[in-house]
Amino acid sequence: MPTLVMKFGGTSVATLDRIRRAAKRVGREVANGHDVIVIVSAMSGKTNELVGWVEETSPMFDAREYDAVVSSGEQVTAGLMALTLQEMDVPARSWAGWQVPLKTNSAHAAARIEEIPTENINAKFAEGMKVAVVAGFQGISPEGRITTLGRGGSDTTAVAFAAAFDAIRCDIYTDVDGVYTTDPRITSKARKLDKIAFEEMLELASLGAKVLQTRSVELAMRFKVRLRVLSSFEDNDDNAGTLVCAEEDIMESNVVAGVAFSRDEAKMTLLSVADRPGIAAAIFGPLADASVNVDMIVQNISEDGRTDMTFSLPVNQIARAEKAMDDAKASGEINFSQLVTDADVAKISVVGIGMRSHAGVASQMFKALRDEGINIKVITTSEIKISVLIDRKYMELAVQALHDTFELHKTA
Ligand code: ADP
Ligand code: ASP
Ligand code: MG
Repeated sequence: MPTLVMKFGGTSVATLDRIRRAAKRVGREVANGHDVIVIVSAMSGKTNELVGWVEETSPMFDAREYDAVVSSGEQVTAGLMALTLQEMDVPARSWAGWQVPLKTNSAHAAARIEEIPTENINAKFAEGMKVAVVAGFQGISPEGRITTLGRGGSDTTAVAFAAAFDAIRCDIYTDVDGVYTTDPRITSKARKLDKIAFEEMLELASLGAKVLQTRSVELAMRFKVRLRVLSSFEDNDDNAGTLVCAEEDIMESNVVAGVAFSRDEAKMTLLSVADRPGIAAAIFGPLADASVNVDMIVQNISEDGRTDMTFSLPVNQIARAEKAMDDAKASGEINFSQLVTDADVAKISVVGIGMRSHAGVASQMFKALRDEGINIKVITTSEIKISVLIDRKYMELAVQALHDTFELHKTA
């Protein structure tokens, strides 16, 4: 029997009624002759509630206990989905991550999948079970404790199962009917893409488009999983949704495929640090040790042997970064006159593999922002993306302006 992986996100299992709708879809695939592995998220809002409880109980929480708590939401929906399928006379059984067992490393709250043995589930398929319902987002560490894969991690569970079971496809059911040129919540002009290249999806995801977790795209690319994003609320035909696929499988595409944004960014500047060999290592070493995820970096022009160093980081890591810098100053590793923090910035990025062979995308981007009177604070580029840091209050405006200037509402 060909195996199909179907993943249902939080909004798609938010109520018993929605679980029933999702189960009907699964039943149809079973009737089509598939063995199905269903990956479920927690009911929407549940994981946020659980994270809130953990933070309220213990602000500097032990990540092992965080995982024990936040993994529970998926266990509920896995059991309910299996029961719903059984009520429809579809032979189904649920698995928590540890029962599979989905083996991860010990990086609690951000664990990486190491192995998914297929024996337990395949034995059940051999006995006539038609659907294995697996709790997404969770696994088990070498120490035997529950781990979680980071927010949005059920996407990664789904792709990893598709790879392990050599599935014909991995369908990600969500509350939008595919991957759009930008988040459809920001502009009604956003257009659904029929196909998007792995590389582009990887950039969009890592630059803030939360429709797929970045790791899931990485895994799909590495293991050549056919990955599709589609709506759990609409009836889909065979070509519905967006196929995430190899670049070669896309005939024609726009130079810019999409615009991504990340709201919760911050910018820090160390004023007047000594411009000497090793200064960057002296600054970014302690930040890395404090687990600060530094993203963009700019070193300004040096005058009289002093320079300013600016970098961006997630807004919720400001306290950790400030402490790391103050400690490094106190120990004499670095010296700066002042540490200036701007907690109200957002990152906007344009992404497209067409940028490899097209000049002028950056200048068009900067002009569009200039025309809206939006000041650019930091710029970074790579082969297929350009990112800028701007004041957060202009974020929506910037996304809309860039969507317009690159005419993303039009097909190539
Ligand atoms: P799920 O709970 O199903 O995992 P998520 O909320 O994680 O769903 O992801 C779906 C959401 O991603 C959409 O509701 C949409 O607002 C957002 N999103 C951001 N960027 C994009 C994009 N480029 N295309 C589609 N959706 C996007
Ligand atoms: N429930 C988890 C979260 O909200 C995992 C997921 O839904 O992908 O992050
Ligand atoms: Mg998600």
